[in-house]
Amino acid sequence: MSRFSSQRLSSLEPYTPGEQPKDMKYIKLNTNESPFAPSKNVLEAAKNAAGTLRLYSDPECKIINEKLASVYGIKPSQVITTNGSDEVLNFAVMAFCDENTPLVFPEITYGFYPVIASVNGIAYEEIPLKEDFTIDFHNYCGLGKTIIIANPNAPTGLSLSLDEIEKIVSSNPNNVVVIDEAYVDFGAESALPLIEKYDNLLVTGTFSKSRSLAGARLGFGFANEKLICDLNTVKYSVNPYNINTMTAMAGVAALESNDYYMNNCKLIMENRQDMKERLEALGFKSLDSKANFLFASSEKIDGGEYYKKLKQKGILVRHFDKEKIKNYVRITVGTKEQTDALIAATEQILKGV
Ligand SMILES: *Cc1c(COP(=O)(O)O)cnc(C)c1O
Repeated sequence: MSRFSSQRLSSLEPYTPGEQPKDMKYIKLNTNESPFAPSKNVLEAAKNAAGTLRLYSDPECKIINEKLASVYGIKPSQVITTNGSDEVLNFAVMAFCDENTPLVFPEITYGFYPVIASVNGIAYEEIPLKEDFTIDFHNYCGLGKTIIIANPNAPTGLSLSLDEIEKIVSSNPNNVVVIDEAYVDFGAESALPLIEKYDNLLVTGTFSKSRSLAGARLGFGFANEKLICDLNTVKYSVNPYNINTMTAMAGVAALESNDYYMNNCKLIMENRQDMKERLEALGFKSLDSKANFLFASSEKIDGGEYYKKLKQKGILVRHFDKEKIKNYVRITVGTKEQTDALIAATEQILKGV
């Protein structure tokens, strides 16, 4: 830290992204990327857009917003696109929290939430999960604070029903409720239909997980147009050209191949079931995930130990150093071949090889 750092910076604990070691070729099951390549038209679109990089990108993100609106059956005025969905989450905290309106989220969830509160000088409260790692929606009803819930939640993969989400949204009419749907394409119910009915709901999503574009950085928010207006006020105050032209065009092309990506999600869901059963056969338990990862543990091996031994065998998974979940690892569901490698390595580790 320099001697110039602000007070806010000196007390800030930044987000720790999943490791990307380059010392050898790993099977990466640690950051929930897609194992499938982007569709061919995406590569073509990005290449064509590269020819226009002399010019600023479109600050209104007109083409990508209109495409998103048409695919999701809403109006372009109900859409904002952002540099990854991390950016729309940060914009939401900047727009909808202040000293009287803290941020609330589950105690075990996406590690970025406390960081975006802290960096903006916003107080936050964490609500414990139930013993079985589920979210008790009653705890979020009538709170009178800004709420963020990942649905499905990370790293558990567990989801709330649309009814439960609606009760949270309807019981906090004077506060914004953000539902982070980064993983919704892998089997949970989307809250998107509720944006017509509730002016306090923001649903966020990303191209990073189900649409094979993590490196392009493209996320989005869907909400009532007044909420979108507020988010745009923040965007134009922070980063008006937040989406680069190659990313916007890649996103449009991805949406034109939506069937390809939704079919990939189906494959991931099948592979998730297969991985779950094969881990169970080795004595592991995993939660009922609706995401592209499993949250698994075994009485036979400590979570941190399992993570380390898998890494030695060239397989990366994610381990969190938090007391309540330290016996678990989060494993991204990839291809069948990747599952084969994970299972073979796990069998060896359990045998002490
Ligand atoms: C991966 C993830 C995101 C955002 O990812 P971006 O790449 O910034 O779009 C948001 N929320 C959760 C819960 C995630 O796991």
